[in-house]
Amino acid sequence: MPQLDPENGALLSPLLIPRPSGTEGAKKALKFLTDFFEKELPEWELILDNFTDTNTPHGPINFVNLIARRDPPGAQKGEVGRLVVAAHYDSKMLPEGFIGATDSAFSCAMMLYVAKVLDAALTAKWAEEHGLEEDTRGIELIFFDGEEAMVTWTATDSLFGARHLAEVWEETIHHPPASRPSELSSIDLFLLLDLLGAAGPRIPSYFATTHWAYKHLARLEAIIRASALSQASSKPWFFDTARSPSVWRSTIDDDHVPFMKRGVEVLHLIPTPFPGVWHTMGDDKNALDVNVCREWALVMGGFVLEWMEVGVPAAVGSAPAQAVSKANGVKRELK
Ligand SMILES: [Zn+2]
Repeated sequence: MPQLDPENGALLSPLLIPRPSGTEGAKKALKFLTDFFEKELPEWELILDNFTDTNTPHGPINFVNLIARRDPPGAQKGEVGRLVVAAHYDSKMLPEGFIGATDSAFSCAMMLYVAKVLDAALTAKWAEEHGLEEDTRGIELIFFDGEEAMVTWTATDSLFGARHLAEVWEETIHHPPASRPSELSSIDLFLLLDLLGAAGPRIPSYFATTHWAYKHLARLEAIIRASALSQASSKPWFFDTARSPSVWRSTIDDDHVPFMKRGVEVLHLIPTPFPGVWHTMGDDKNALDVNVCREWALVMGGFVLEWMEVGVPAAVGSAPAQAVSKANGVKRELK
């Protein structure tokens, strides 16, 4: 998929710039993201969560989270349950000139790719569907601002965007008789991507209550590897399928935490160990592995298409759709 090529991919290159919160770079990155949806995916609702945090080490800073959402046409807001896919678009302030290709420019670019693949399939599904009022599955992409600490990571110097949005959504109430009482309870699964795109990732299963979704990803990965779709050759990324519930523990602080604290189900896709270039000048386009990036797009695309129950024919020609089609074939054979 040339759009995600580390060298000159159209969805990726515009994000490979320094983009600390509150700077021109962050504004440019945000404009690139919003322009993409406005020009290419006009059916998606864009929400800007724009706020100033006065309690940063550098004084008042303006932050903007971007949310891109597509719900079934005509669905009542308080009835829709959404799959959230999230990553942060800001980059670390120091060292000066830091790019953060894996942290998390690539994840953001991949979300655009997945949105594009999904969009055509959703349009086709919802055009054909009868009994639309019963379809309550929506999709939401969150591009967080202010994940990185400005100076050193503390409870108040980090996760600026996620802390704000979780609070706002907890207080955004849907009037009765909505079956989802708040915007926060409209989230069925919160998938957080971080530090992806480098070679040889190993992704543990961090949370017992979303291990079922982790196992779906492991299954998709196996199918993609067995097909000719991917050339990434390394140990399985989703290796942790047999984990025993008694040993679940994650101490990684990231944008999911303010949501998880409020009861949202989270699947955290972050490698352990972190990429070797983590928080160094080495985290630029050279840190991204072209085959790994391609496989991530296939796995995530496949997962999101499956979740949204979109028919494969609508997206014929797209590699993630082929992966889902193969996965369904396997499921049928197993039955
Ligand atoms: Zn970081």
